[in-house]
Amino acid sequence: MRALAKLEPAVGLTLTDVQRPVVGHNDVLIKIRKTAICGTDIHIWKWDDWASKTIPVPMHVGHEYVGEIVEIGQEVQGFAIGDRVSGEGHITCGFCRNCRAGRRHLCRNTSGVGVDRPGAFADYLAIPAFNAFKIPDDVSDELAAIFDPFGNAAHTALAFNLVGEDVLITGAGPIGAMAAAIARHVGARNVVITDVNDYRLDLARKMGATRTVNVAKESLPDVMAELHMAEGFDVGMEMSGVPSAFSSMLDQMNHGGKIAMLGILPAGFGIDWNKVIFKGLEIKGIYGREMFETWYKMVAMLQSGLDLSPVITHHFSVTDYRAGFDTMLSGQSGKVILDWAA
Ligand code: NAD
Ligand code: ZN
Repeated sequence: MRALAKLEPAVGLTLTDVQRPVVGHNDVLIKIRKTAICGTDIHIWKWDDWASKTIPVPMHVGHEYVGEIVEIGQEVQGFAIGDRVSGEGHITCGFCRNCRAGRRHLCRNTSGVGVDRPGAFADYLAIPAFNAFKIPDDVSDELAAIFDPFGNAAHTALAFNLVGEDVLITGAGPIGAMAAAIARHVGARNVVITDVNDYRLDLARKMGATRTVNVAKESLPDVMAELHMAEGFDVGMEMSGVPSAFSSMLDQMNHGGKIAMLGILPAGFGIDWNKVIFKGLEIKGIYGREMFETWYKMVAMLQSGLDLSPVITHHFSVTDYRAGFDTMLSGQSGKVILDWAA
């Protein structure tokens, strides 16, 4: 079968031929229809420090996808051939304390599809049936292919009550833009989003942010004054991974504010802890998606009118994967879809 693989420890990926995966007793085999390119895949493409320490070579990567079940292991229940599915990319152990308590997103022994084990950028993917998630008919293939990052946005945005709250999102990448849409959908008042990239801020505005701020050109306190937000933000979502963005969030939070942290900050970055203490801030780290509560909420939000379609900005056939990665690398995109059926 075709697969997009890292064949040697260097920049890029190669469309190559690999063995079709073997389907274990508890697995389903998914024929991939569409995949999307994640920021993680960009790290892998660039072969940065993290990627070179993490990704085994050779291996094919990718973890954002939709496809159809074509084979089922003999122990599998609840799925049928022909089911349209996406899947949770974190394969969990099932026996650690958190797994047994139903908090699978906190498993200590997680292995990642397309990171620690072969991925979804291929004609076929085998995963444990536990990780597959059936997609209802009224959800398009394009949206189903981005349930993984949509899940990061939903897990973060739903970490704290947003009804009537003033929300600050730092980072208008695809996940920040989707979080803005969710915040509006669930009833936030001001949804202010920052970035340094105007293309992405425009996208976040289309998705429902009430005010976008290019922090290279405008000051966040000035914008807050314009919005009559004298007291600061009630809820923050850090979605940039940039230290200065998180520092300015700490400055602009109201007392008692709550922050959900998704962006991956550089190791060892220090903050002024007195801001956390004297403001009584609550900070929650967010990893992955809740299995499978976040997934059910994603479907429910789409079915109750959440519109994420603007975040999908580009489509390519998988044979044009280089153009797809170039588009992501340019920063002038939302989500980029690679079509495997064409
Ligand atoms: P992305 O890189 O596409 O988006 C980050 C955005 O931050 C970019 O648009 C960038 O221009 C912007 N930015 C740069 N400097 C800024 C500044 N000073 N202020 C505000 N914004 C600034 O990433 P993404 O795919 O949208 O993911 C968002 C973050 O979440 C990344 O840090 C990613 O690594 C992280 N992530 C974490 C998890 C998890 O499980 N914790 C999962 C997925 C992604
Ligand atoms: Zn576990």
